[in-house]
Amino acid sequence: MSYSFHEGEEIKLLRQSLRSFADKEIAPRAHELDEKEEFSEQLTKQMGELGLFGTFVPEKYEGQAMDYIQYVIAVEEIARVDGSQAATIAAHNSLGVGPLYYYGTEEQKKKYLPQLCTGKALWAFGLTEAEAGSDAQASRTRATYNEAKDEWSISGSKIWITNSASDLTVGITVQAITGTLPNGKNELSCFIVPADAVGLTRKVMHGKMMWRSSNTGELYFDEVKVPNSAMLGARGQGFKIMMETLDNGRLSIGAMGLGLAKGALEMTLKYAKERKTFGVTISKHQAVAFKLAEMATRIEAAETLLYKAAWLKQQGLAFQKQAAMAKLYCSEVAEYCAREGQQTFSFAHR
Ligand SMILES: Cc1cc2nc3c(=O)[nH]c(=O)nc-3n(C[C@H](O)[C@H](O)[C@H](O)COP(=O)(O)OP(=O)(O)OC[C@H]3O[C@@H](n4cnc5c(N)ncnc54)[C@H](O)[C@@H]3O)c2cc1C
Repeated sequence: MSYSFHEGEEIKLLRQSLRSFADKEIAPRAHELDEKEEFSEQLTKQMGELGLFGTFVPEKYEGQAMDYIQYVIAVEEIARVDGSQAATIAAHNSLGVGPLYYYGTEEQKKKYLPQLCTGKALWAFGLTEAEAGSDAQASRTRATYNEAKDEWSISGSKIWITNSASDLTVGITVQAITGTLPNGKNELSCFIVPADAVGLTRKVMHGKMMWRSSNTGELYFDEVKVPNSAMLGARGQGFKIMMETLDNGRLSIGAMGLGLAKGALEMTLKYAKERKTFGVTISKHQAVAFKLAEMATRIEAAETLLYKAAWLKQQGLAFQKQAAMAKLYCSEVAEYCAREGQQTFSFAHR
């Protein structure tokens, strides 16, 4: 589908149906789930019925065959009411499904993708370790090859892995060291590890400051055995796979920021039009009106940047720079709108 600055009927319909679902089904539960740090299988399955899993996967693998503009709009509409549910779909699609779809063999795609397009099965992306976050090449998790058995044995740990420790999780793509390159650096490769693999322990993490009802896990690998056929992509391609996956992931993280910003503006505007001081609604006071105008302007700029990045990706053009800018700017606008919106509320309560 082509995108223009004017949203066509198909995009409008997508927005409307997701907005009505998010308002009716997610919004009433979001606060309680967040307070309890509770991951909702029910909402995940409902989002699956709505077609939010396997978004950009072609119909051939039972996916939704959306384009990237539709995908970011879908994440944005869910993030408008609840970042946690949006994190579940963004991580599953961009980080879980993405590497399998872009780097899997035909056999791997046929085996794993159909179930991952339903919302009944989640897939995670295991890159980060306690000592390897921004410095993702500093991984310590290691895979050792046993030639006689044609299998790998993985040992190590991962942390902060979204969708990895739920009962719906069926597998994780794991980056591990598989050797040493001639330049002395680690050779990194990716493996498909089933969630029920012997030697894998998955622990739900609690105490997050946000996305509290999304599922985040710590993973421990104690000589987890996988066949050589479980390697994703070629040996030594692990870092490239992980970095390209993060490029795509920046689009959906940008969409989460944009959705949050739009939700914050809506709440602020609604309140500003209801609350009266000095005989008029506070929206009529310039100090508040200026804030609302600034929020709306930044949102418009963030949206334009994000949709352009998604459009570039869809066209098969270089999109990495714009995706990184969109992630940065949408996140900053989200923080700005939440902060300014919150100040407008507290103005009225002084
Ligand atoms: C809710 C949540 C979900 C996540 N989901 C996943 C997932 O699904 N899969 C996955 O693999 N990972 C996941 N992560 C991990 C995430 O990708 C890492 O948190 C991220 O890479 C940062 O690593 P770190 O937390 O170790 O921070 P660090 O790398 O320790 O950074 C700490 C601070 O130092 C700054 N810093 C670091 N290096 C530099 C530098 N060179 N110059 C300037 N400043 C620097 C950083 O910007 C940051 O402010 C998740 C994290 C969270 C919080």
